Amino acid sequence: MKKLALALVAIVLALVVYSVVSATQSTEEVKKTVPKKPTTQTVSVTADDISKGQLVLINADHEVNDKAVPEDLVTLSKHPKLIKNFTTADDSIKISRDMLSAFQQMIHDAKKDNVTHFVINSSYRSKKVQAELYRTKGADIALPAGASEHNLGLSMDIGSSLGLMENAEEGKWLAKNAAKYGFILRYPSDKTDITGIQYEAWHFRYVGLPHSLIMQKRDWVLEEYMNYLKKHDALKTTVNGMTYTIEHHDVKATGTTTIEVPLEQSYTVSGDNDQGVILTIWNPQEDPQQQEAANQTTTTKKQQ
Ligand SMILES: [Zn+2]
Repeated sequence: MKKLALALVAIVLALVVYSVVSATQSTEEVKKTVPKKPTTQTVSVTADDISKGQLVLINADHEVNDKAVPEDLVTLSKHPKLIKNFTTADDSIKISRDMLSAFQQMIHDAKKDNVTHFVINSSYRSKKVQAELYRTKGADIALPAGASEHNLGLSMDIGSSLGLMENAEEGKWLAKNAAKYGFILRYPSDKTDITGIQYEAWHFRYVGLPHSLIMQKRDWVLEEYMNYLKKHDALKTTVNGMTYTIEHHDVKATGTTTIEVPLEQSYTVSGDNDQGVILTIWNPQEDPQQQEAANQTTTTKKQQ
């Protein structure tokens, strides 16, 4: 009986091995006939996209498109819980929630350096309010409606309750650190010939990461950054351990423009408010935080 049982086990094993081998072979054969997987994904944009997004350039030659105004504007006085670690100049201040959370993170960190007297003096202004400001204050103080970044809703005038921003610790801290949080000092003293605007120690524009850090590192204002991207194929940079590719693409005035992006890469699209869009591409697999988590998982497995 034992011999018979052993013989049966041997037969069963042989069958299993045979079926596994043939299954592997057939999978390989199938693989050979499958057409090649696509290596890119297609991004479709239209002329409407040129004037929207975090990188749009606003100045005397590039006006704000009404469609570009963020949809997440809130009136701060109606949401007192959002007013934390700063004060506001008045009850009418409207601001983008996205930008506000970057600002809150920033001043939370400033607090660690004992810099705590931040005031929001102004953020989003409608074109109507801007026109009134231009009429009452004049061309030396205010920009005409549509030519101010405040009409876009992605900038803010930040003050200090201790005095003028150019002298206050709040101004000095922001000039040095704001880029880490996606903000840029939009009108520096040494770039007035390019921006066409006097030095404003208080006016910060939100462009997001990695753009703010690139601009700070290369000492570019937004005009210079956009110019560079238009003239070059792509800019590659590593910020906080993540590699980004930033490229400008012209967009057709009518119809759809398609752009190829490598598959499985993350990307954002922003208009340049001139002739095209800027694609910011990165590999989500490269996320340093995710990698850290993956490494921890591997270590746990090894211990088991
Ligand atoms: Zn301003």
